[in-house]
Formats: sequence, structure tokens, C-alpha cells
Amino acid sequence: MVKQKTSLTFYGGVNEIGGNKILLEDKKVRIFLDFGQSFTMGAEYFTGWLRPRAVNGLRDYFEFNLLPKIRGVYAKELLAFTDLPYVKPKIDAVFLSHAHVDHVNYIQFLDPRIPVYLGVGTKFFLEAMEKTSSFYSYGEHQYRTFRTGDKIEVGGLVVEPVHVDHSIPAAYGFLIHTSEGAIVYTGDLRAHGPRKDMTEEFADKARESEPVATICEGTRMVEKEKRKNYSEHEVEKLSDKVVSSTDKIVFVTRYSRDMDRFRSFYNVAKNNGKKIVISPKTAHLLSKLVHDKHLRLPNPMKDKSILVYYKRKKTGSFQEKDYYIWEREFMDKMVNHKFVHKHQSEIVMDLDFYQFAELIDIRPGPDSHFIHSMSEPYSEEDIEDEVMHNWLRHFKIKFHQLHASGHMNRSQLTNLINYIKPKQIFPIHTENPKLFKAINKNVHLVRYGKRYTI
Ligand SMILES: [Zn+2]
Repeated sequence: MVKQKTSLTFYGGVNEIGGNKILLEDKKVRIFLDFGQSFTMGAEYFTGWLRPRAVNGLRDYFEFNLLPKIRGVYAKELLAFTDLPYVKPKIDAVFLSHAHVDHVNYIQFLDPRIPVYLGVGTKFFLEAMEKTSSFYSYGEHQYRTFRTGDKIEVGGLVVEPVHVDHSIPAAYGFLIHTSEGAIVYTGDLRAHGPRKDMTEEFADKARESEPVATICEGTRMVEKEKRKNYSEHEVEKLSDKVVSSTDKIVFVTRYSRDMDRFRSFYNVAKNNGKKIVISPKTAHLLSKLVHDKHLRLPNPMKDKSILVYYKRKKTGSFQEKDYYIWEREFMDKMVNHKFVHKHQSEIVMDLDFYQFAELIDIRPGPDSHFIHSMSEPYSEEDIEDEVMHNWLRHFKIKFHQLHASGHMNRSQLTNLINYIKPKQIFPIHTENPKLFKAINKNVHLVRYGKRYTI
């Protein structure tokens, strides 16, 4: 009889940052680690409002190989207009490392009979995303939540999620105990965030497992880093400098699910006796996340430092019926453009780039401030970046770039790998897998869809 070998096949995250979909097979068990959307794949064919047609299920995705054509993975109705026949699930489980779209977004296509394992906090994020945005709809799944240290058995395979620090709460790496030994998957992680102790704990457990293989992210694995990167603590300190030295309003743009960053700006506002003004979307997310005590986030309903900004909608007169039901929950905390205009000196305001038109109504005074707390643009011809600066110039707002990455840099990745000492390394979620060769000889330059036997 042929021995069923342990193997890894990568259907995403190959020579690109994001889109992780890793098939792990061990004897008769088959699981996927993450099932995310690629940021770059498909960019040659789809742009702006030219998108895959939802009504066609997976047809448009298969046309351009945006998803692997594998039997026993996808939901029946999504295959109706494709040439891939439906068969019952051949995947035993999908494990999600964290709620970033490049790790979770394509679970919307999975056969609902495949169980989806995810962190307790990750489930809150998915629910909030579905509720507050028309872009996200994950469909029906058998969700099974875990916490760090759990040991989940799937047909003889044991999967151990271990928390890590990343730019979203409830991020995990996995130790997968296979018949050939432990396989470590880092997910996305960093060593300079407020919970670097969690990443250290993960590294310890990974090392103890004496892994036969490590699947390691390499977002910041670059020859030389040009962009400025602070630690979370530095972002808070430098933002405090901006806020404490002005009597003008300070606007902030950050990644909507980065709750460490939210906490930093919340602290800065509070410590300076100011209020933080957030969107109903952020308020909704907070109202869910407060149920996870570990996250130590403020309750938007009760916290006196938090106000919620309502845009004009429908009637234009801020009536309850103008808003979605989930938005109405925070109307006790409602402020609008008039209030913000009047109390500029007392406010730090979350303002997403796509909400910049609100500035027309808020009419901030000259020499107000704007903190761009996200990655710097990747190219110099970034149109949104140009538009953003046009708006800031128009309103005479001062610009500050203050961001801490969610990922380890090159030397931190090197330290991690040297510490874990895996027998072989599979770099993913990186544009520069070759650079891993400088750390360890046993690096696989992963090819899409190729099966690697462990
Ligand atoms: Zn991530």
C-alpha cells in the first residue's frame, strides 16, 4: 500500500503579500490554513467597479485562476456555471489565523459543510464586517471558535493555535502536529507591538515543538527598508506630541480593525482632556469587542471620552430613521459636523480618507492637523495619496506620517527563525522569498500549486 505522505500545497501567498491558502495533508486528513483573498491576483483583469460577477459564482474567478480548481472545496451553487463538478467536501477543516481579508475573505466560497475554526475575537470581527459593510458576506459555516492553547483534533491531526501580536486582535499562529512531526505556521506577526509577549510565547512553543517545517510570513523581508516604521508605543508618544501642542482639531486615519492603534489615539485624546470622535462603524465594532475582556477596549456606549459622528443621510436632518438599525444604537453619543466645528479644540477625530467630504461641512480652521497612521504609499504615483494631499492643502491641514507595522522586519524574522530552528522553511506572504536563504539553507522557493512532501 502506498503510504499517505504529509504534504503542503500553496494556493496563495506565493511571491505576493496576502492571499494565503495553504493545503496541509497528513494521511487521510486535509485542512486549509487560511483562505484569503489576494491583493494582486486579478488586478490585471479587474479594477474599480469592474469586478467578478457575483451571480456567476466562481466562473469569473476560475477564468483568471483567482482560485484553485479543486474538487470538494466549494459550495454547490457557486459551481453551477463552472466546469468543476460538485462533490461532497474533501476538506476536513479550515483554520483562520486572523480576520484580515487576505487571510479570510474567500471563505465565502467554501462548502458550508466544511467546519471553519477561528479565534473567538476573529468571529466578532467577521460578524461586525458583515453587519456594517455591504462588501463582506461570508455565508453559512459551521464556525468553531478557539482560544490560545486549545488543542483541536481533526482526524488524528492536532492543531494548536497560539496567540501572536499583529495589527489586529485575535491573531494566531498554529502548531500542527502531524504524523511526520510539527509544522509551524506563523500567520502574520510582529515583535514590536504592545503584546510582543504573545509573539514570544508563540516562538517558545514553536521551538519546543522541534518543527520539521515552518511556514513563515515575510511581508517586510526586503533588502533595505525605505519606509519609516515606529513601534506602537512611539506612535502613541509622537501623536501625543501633536495633540498636546495644538488647540486645533486633529484628524486621524488608521486601518479600521487595528484596535491597538485605536487604543493609542483613544489614550492620547483622553490624556489631553479631549474627546475622540469615531464613526458608527467603529462604535459597532467596539461594542462587540468589549465582550472579550482580554482586549481591554472602552465601551462606546458608556465611555465619556467617546463621541460618535453621524453624517447626513436620507432626509439630511439627522433623524433616527435615516440610519441603519445597527447605527442607531449610538445615537445617545451622536455629534454632527456642527458640533465638531464648534468644539474643534477639544476633539481628536477618526476620519477615513473615503469620508473626507465631511471636511466640507466640518470646516476645520487653518493649521489643523492630520495624522496618517497607515503604511506610506507603495508607489510615487499613488492617485489616492495625491488626492488626499490636495484635500489637506485645500483646508490648510498639517500632515503627519505616524505608523507602526503589523509585521516583523528582516532582522526580527531572522531572529525568529534562528530561534525556532525549523528543519525547512516555506516563506510565504512575501515578495522576496529568496532573502530567506541568507538565514537558512533549507528554504523552499514555493511554487503555486506544487505539492511539497514533508
Ligand atoms: Zn494580517
